[in-house]
Amino acid sequence: MVLGRDEAAQVEAARIKEVEETLEGGLPETLLKLCEWAAGYYAHPIGEVLAAALPALVRQGREARLPAQAPGSAFTLTAVRQPNLRLTDEQQVFIDSVGDTGAHLLQGITGSGKTEVYLRLVERALQAGRQTLVLVPEIGLTPQTVGRFRERFDVELAVLHSGLSDKERALAWLQAARGQAGIVLGTRSAVFTPLARPGLIIVDEEHDGSFKQQEGFHYNARDLAVLRGQLESMPVILGSATPSLESLANAQRGRYGQGQLSRRPASLQRERYEIINTAQLPVTDGLSHPLREAIAATIAAGNQALLFINRRGYAPALLCTACGWVASCRHCDARLTYHARGPAEQARLYCHHCGSAERRLDACHACQSGALKLVGAGTQRVEQRLRALFGEAPVLRIDRDSTRRAGALAEAFAEVGKGGPAILVGTQMLAKGHHFPRVTLVALLDIDPAFYTADFRALERLGQTILQVGGRAGRADQPGKVLVQTGLAQHPLLRLLLEEGYAPFAEALLAERRAQGLPPYSFDALIRASSPEAEGAVKFLLEVAGEPGTGPAKALGPVPALMERKAGRYRQHLLLRAPSRAALHQLLAEKVRVAEAIKAPRSLRWSVDVDPYDLF
Ligand code: ADP
Ligand code: ZN
Ligand code: ZN
Repeated sequence: MVLGRDEAAQVEAARIKEVEETLEGGLPETLLKLCEWAAGYYAHPIGEVLAAALPALVRQGREARLPAQAPGSAFTLTAVRQPNLRLTDEQQVFIDSVGDTGAHLLQGITGSGKTEVYLRLVERALQAGRQTLVLVPEIGLTPQTVGRFRERFDVELAVLHSGLSDKERALAWLQAARGQAGIVLGTRSAVFTPLARPGLIIVDEEHDGSFKQQEGFHYNARDLAVLRGQLESMPVILGSATPSLESLANAQRGRYGQGQLSRRPASLQRERYEIINTAQLPVTDGLSHPLREAIAATIAAGNQALLFINRRGYAPALLCTACGWVASCRHCDARLTYHARGPAEQARLYCHHCGSAERRLDACHACQSGALKLVGAGTQRVEQRLRALFGEAPVLRIDRDSTRRAGALAEAFAEVGKGGPAILVGTQMLAKGHHFPRVTLVALLDIDPAFYTADFRALERLGQTILQVGGRAGRADQPGKVLVQTGLAQHPLLRLLLEEGYAPFAEALLAERRAQGLPPYSFDALIRASSPEAEGAVKFLLEVAGEPGTGPAKALGPVPALMERKAGRYRQHLLLRAPSRAALHQLLAEKVRVAEAIKAPRSLRWSVDVDPYDLF
């Protein structure tokens, strides 16, 4: 990639390559600017940023011709199928508030009409001959989502996601870059898709963690979208039922415009939340008695139930009842998860962190006792119990294991779509994007770990998950019921969320963050280091940390990562925290310079994560 010219070579002549030919038009200038900014902000090499931003075929300079279209011809909007509805005042006010620039946060519960607002804004852009980029979370890009846009507009639409072939991806990218696609829909990395006629960016479910790239080049597509809006003078809409605390704080500081959709239009009713207190109740295979009753009543009424449990596999722990030994991974500080598979002897214990597998165990590794017990429940165990209890209704498990086969997810959704009584059991995959109009009962089975973890974002995420999953219930004519099964029924923040909703809950969390000087009231960057020996990463980060400085930005640590050993490597973190971005970046630049100058062994790896989403 040629980014500039220099009169005098800094490298030996033999290593310099000739430019033989250039790509047609080169890289769009705005894209280059975005990448350069991102490389600086995230302290990441520009070469790798460009590699992440460009489809492989484009990067390699290979031809990817667009079939049957003249280069540069603009998209054509041939029809808009407007539904017969009147916008609510809140929808209209928000639409009118979106001008030619700026970021705007749109908060509204599921079903409150956010998508309708997006569609109106897209229409406005299309009518003006401008393109819209729509970003959705990883799992949110379902055929349903694409369908909403196709239903409304007859216009060229390009879709970008991880399931595409290199050729398909390059074609979609070129369609966008040449202005031939009126709408460009994609997941995280689509934020780098150039638009010849930029008009609008929409980030749906802006709170979603999958906008953050967690490996290699750690960028946040939502934040880059906001920046892109500034660079290319177009408005950016951030929509969510449960906005991130970062975006709420930006709206409160006046940096983002703000809109509310406070109720569901017309006949749609809001779901009701109830707690099942399991502090005193037996829970068998993940299910308490009141929950079993509620499922039975739902099935008997011919409706569907959705059970959310954020754990795949059969059981999260295998315990020796004689001595207390727990089956753990050889390579990680983590328990092994028991996965059932056909006959009992085919069961396996898997580590969800490094992927290593072990055969089923018949005796304790510590005391050789055979008194082993599977503790806790994952999706498989709940599924098995539901089959035994409600044999007549189909039980559909939806998690990464059950949907590995291509088409499996679509088949499961088709089965649910038939509308007969059914029970869905699944992980995050059920929480996003897809709507289930016949589901009248939603239950969250095991939320308690979020209350115990050291991760300060865990409660924010829990609140978002509860409302996102709950929002899948009762979208049609029937009100939905959401049961939250927990041993911490009295937790004040949980009660606040369920009784008064997301806004007061988020306010309370923001007040805590402010009092503790945590983001979004401070700014973080994490320097992660790992090495195969226990001491390597600590030593390296101690050297990077140096003497405590006197500036406003602080280097905290090094401290062991929440999971210190993973895949055979010992992991340590140095956290940089500052009251302002400027101070953070000043310290970060200094620390990166120090780190780069250290002669560490090759086996030591380190990376920088600006605005880290989790501390694992
Ligand atoms: P969200 O994206 O917030 O989940 P949608 O935009 O999908 O909400 O709206 C939910 C349902 O309500 C859709 O069927 C939509 O067509 C309908 N709807 C949206 N706005 C209105 C309105 N102003 N009047 C009547 N129905 C509406
Ligand atoms: Zn034992
Ligand atoms: Zn492991």
